[in-house]
Amino acid sequence: MAKTPETEHPQKAFGWAARDSSGSLSPFNFSRRELGSEDVLIKILYCGVCHSDLHAAKNEWGFTNYPIVPGHEIVGLVTKTGSSVQKFQVGDRVGVGVIVGSCKTCDICQQDLENYCPKVILTYNSKDQDGTKTYGGYSDIVVVDQRFVLRFPDNLPADAGAPLLCAGITVYSPMKYYGMTEPGKHLGVAGLGGLGHVAVKLAKAFGLKVTVISTSPKKEVEAIDRLGADSFLLSSDPEKFKAAIGSMDYIIDTIAAVHPLAPLVSLLKMNGKLITVGLPDKPLELPIFPLVLGRKLVGGSDIGGMKETQEMLEFCAKHNIAADIELIRMDQINSAMERLAKSDVRYRFVVDVANSLASP
Ligand code: NAP
Ligand code: ZN
Repeated sequence: MAKTPETEHPQKAFGWAARDSSGSLSPFNFSRRELGSEDVLIKILYCGVCHSDLHAAKNEWGFTNYPIVPGHEIVGLVTKTGSSVQKFQVGDRVGVGVIVGSCKTCDICQQDLENYCPKVILTYNSKDQDGTKTYGGYSDIVVVDQRFVLRFPDNLPADAGAPLLCAGITVYSPMKYYGMTEPGKHLGVAGLGGLGHVAVKLAKAFGLKVTVISTSPKKEVEAIDRLGADSFLLSSDPEKFKAAIGSMDYIIDTIAAVHPLAPLVSLLKMNGKLITVGLPDKPLELPIFPLVLGRKLVGGSDIGGMKETQEMLEFCAKHNIAADIELIRMDQINSAMERLAKSDVRYRFVVDVANSLASP
């Protein structure tokens, strides 16, 4: 008889899964693999709710393999370690982000860029080494190879720090790689959601001048007073937009939906860089003339490798950077997802997994 998600592995697990493209989540019994020598068993405390979870739960990218247990901003406690694990001990506070495996041997992995390995294994909706499916952090426990487990610094809060594991590294890595950290330079952050609000905080810690580019007038006061942005540009305000043309050195584009790139490119100075990290479900139109005539660059970036993710956590711990969160119970996830789809979250939902995920 074919094995079910509940019987394919020896360890019982419980979480919330989406079963179809409605994206609606409900309780789900499944199982986790027995610990291999390199594996760590983690009791999940908190899990952030990334917009990628929503894209995936609703199959907006077209490759969701249901049932799917989303969640890739996981903070938890080590409860057991495999025989070769030296890096972690029972009781350690740890984090798991978007990836849980890679080939470990290719050139890319050797450069600590496991996130770009062709054989990368995502935390959910991916094929694990043994051919079974990976399930994410909207669940009670997870088993992860130690290479893909992060030490979670003592002075980072476990709940508000969880979003750093995806939102944080996704904006930190391109800022470093594309040289967007020079103090005094002007960064535009397009889209003030989970990724965007962490980008503002990181950019201020790097000493940049930050302008938030947003469709939500209600976010203006918070962007400046609470998050520390220097200015706010409402994308639907033509006068203010015109005045900002050619004023930015870099823009990080975190917008989750299809949107025009031309206005963002126009905001860049000559030699400016527009780095896109948002993953809309359809292609964006790229205006070539303004790129060519202004020697501007458009690039992309995907989370970060394990070494850089650890570095980012230490940086955030040093600069007291965590997400602004709305803590929810697991059974509030569907209404949270509805609000996330409407850009109505300040600025990341985090599920209080350990205190609200009651097994039936
Ligand atoms: P989020 O919290 O929903 O934030 C996205 C923001 O985009 C919204 O708050 C909103 O900001 C803006 N926005 C949404 N719809 C828009 C529209 N139709 N037109 C213009 N602006 C719109 O999402 P997130 O968790 O930060 O993720 C953002 C995107 O990055 C998602 O597509 C996600 O899948 C992707 N992502 C990529 C990576 C990577 O490695 N590259 C990692 C994580 C996530 P305003 O209200 O300010 O306009
Ligand atoms: Zn994410």
